[in-house]
Amino acid sequence: MKYSEFVELYEKLAGTTKKLEKVGILANFLKELKKRGKSEWIYLLRGRVVADYDEREFGISGKLTIKAISRVSGVSDSRVVSEYRKIGDLGEIAEKLLGQKSQSTLFSACLKTEKVFDNLRKIMGLQGKGSVDKKLGLIAELLGSASGKEAKYIIRTLLNDLRVGVADAILRDAISKTFFDGEEMEADVEEAYDRTNDFAEVFELAGKGKTKLKSTEIRPGRPIKVMLPVKVTEIDEALRICGEKVAVEHKYDGFRVVISYDGKNVMLFTRKLDNVTNQFPDIVNVVKSHVKGKSFILDTEVVGYDPKTKKYMPFEAISQRIKRKHDIEKLVKELPVEINVFDVLYHNGNTVMDIPFIKRRKLLEKIIKAEHFKIRPATQIISEDKKKIDEFYKEALRTGEEGVMIKSLDAIYRPGRRVGFIVKMKPVVADLDLVIVGAEYGTGKRAGGLTSFYVACKDKENGFLEVGRVSSGLKEKEGEGVTYKEMDKILRPLITKTSGRKVFIKPKVVVSVTYQNIQKSPGYSSGYALRFPRIMHYRPERGVYDIASLDEIKKDAERK
Ligand code: AMP
Repeated sequence: MKYSEFVELYEKLAGTTKKLEKVGILANFLKELKKRGKSEWIYLLRGRVVADYDEREFGISGKLTIKAISRVSGVSDSRVVSEYRKIGDLGEIAEKLLGQKSQSTLFSACLKTEKVFDNLRKIMGLQGKGSVDKKLGLIAELLGSASGKEAKYIIRTLLNDLRVGVADAILRDAISKTFFDGEEMEADVEEAYDRTNDFAEVFELAGKGKTKLKSTEIRPGRPIKVMLPVKVTEIDEALRICGEKVAVEHKYDGFRVVISYDGKNVMLFTRKLDNVTNQFPDIVNVVKSHVKGKSFILDTEVVGYDPKTKKYMPFEAISQRIKRKHDIEKLVKELPVEINVFDVLYHNGNTVMDIPFIKRRKLLEKIIKAEHFKIRPATQIISEDKKKIDEFYKEALRTGEEGVMIKSLDAIYRPGRRVGFIVKMKPVVADLDLVIVGAEYGTGKRAGGLTSFYVACKDKENGFLEVGRVSSGLKEKEGEGVTYKEMDKILRPLITKTSGRKVFIKPKVVVSVTYQNIQKSPGYSSGYALRFPRIMHYRPERGVYDIASLDEIKKDAERK
């Protein structure tokens, strides 16, 4: 298949914001992919060449693409940079500068999708000494035989900024339409995706029929999207959702880790699907010696404690362990962790997600050799007595936990969902996980750095919608928690556009924001605004898929 066919598709997709239209366009294209047996090319539709569970990145900077554009077009680096300052989009610059190549070059070189896919994959695999030059060579090779428009999309793909608007939900509906038009199979496609995090696999399974699609399994060794709770503030509400008799557990203030053992290796994944195995050799060791089974997947909350006082520490204190790539052994000693296991999803070669929670809990108690400050099943009571539940809740707060999780005893495990099988009960502190989509440079003492942040919720139809601007909560000085300076460093590489003091930021960085209440407001694209927002935590382990939705914002606004 010629790459130009992909480009044509990208242009069509970018040309409409209507979801149904996009789904129709995609479904036609997917039929073509199916005929050619090229399931993996489905990744290209979202600017990738590997599955979502695979965290490899291209690792390409704007600077390197500028070099490649300059090398192939013959235009100097500095002119490309000055064009960039004017236009602000390297994709468009590539289109403009490379579109001027003579027709004869184009005629002799028709760029094939195989070639694009292969080179992009090779780029992903390159690391270490000499890799930058090799990457440059691979990019230049593609640009050398690309038309202007093709160059635009190659550059945008490399910079993770495809901008054709193919969200998960759109691709899901398109796969459903391709194979089961009119049969309402969207939820099944979504579930298969939540279990695999791989659209190519879902696409193939769907092509084999409904039964195959419905029997999609989770697999050890791969990250999964975890099940999430809904928020309540009262026991009555919790019991209405979860049933009369429920399990109540401490809500630990740590971070979520899915522990996976495939018979050979123990692997650790965050909620954002990042592999953090190397950062936590201590967890790997404890799991090897304290969990029985030929294979398993455990859902856990990892909590830090002070090695001297043996006091549990808030999330902030250990959050640095998640990203740290060096001095790991030192950190293991300084910031040790305890694993609180609250669910088991897979054991000895079989999925156990579909058996009731109470049975899964029994299984996990059986396979874990509990040891304080190493690993243990989450502290739990099973009760229908409101007074007892209330006491347990208050006790949890007294011991410094955030609250409790209340769980339905007969519920199955649904990856990636807030289905109401679990609720979290916390004191009435309003907080939401939101993603940073923009920022502003400060003035006066804070000039030069990004000091206020536009935060957004997600919406199935419209992507990310702003709900406010927050400029407090981060720290001024280093210590516990992220400083303004550190946040500035995190956000800079994600800037996509600058307009006066405001910058636009790729939606990747998740923060927990507290606020007093939510009001209707025409000033933000969601139509709502948080009042007195404050960043409570930076959440490096959380991804955009589990931030608050517009529906939650609306509900919250109505409550007050
Ligand atoms: P929140 O981050 O406030 O939405 O609360 C949900 C998070 O609480 C989950 O993603 C887990 O990381 C964490 N958590 C702590 N303790 C438990 C528990 N016993 N069961 C389930 N999740 C828990």
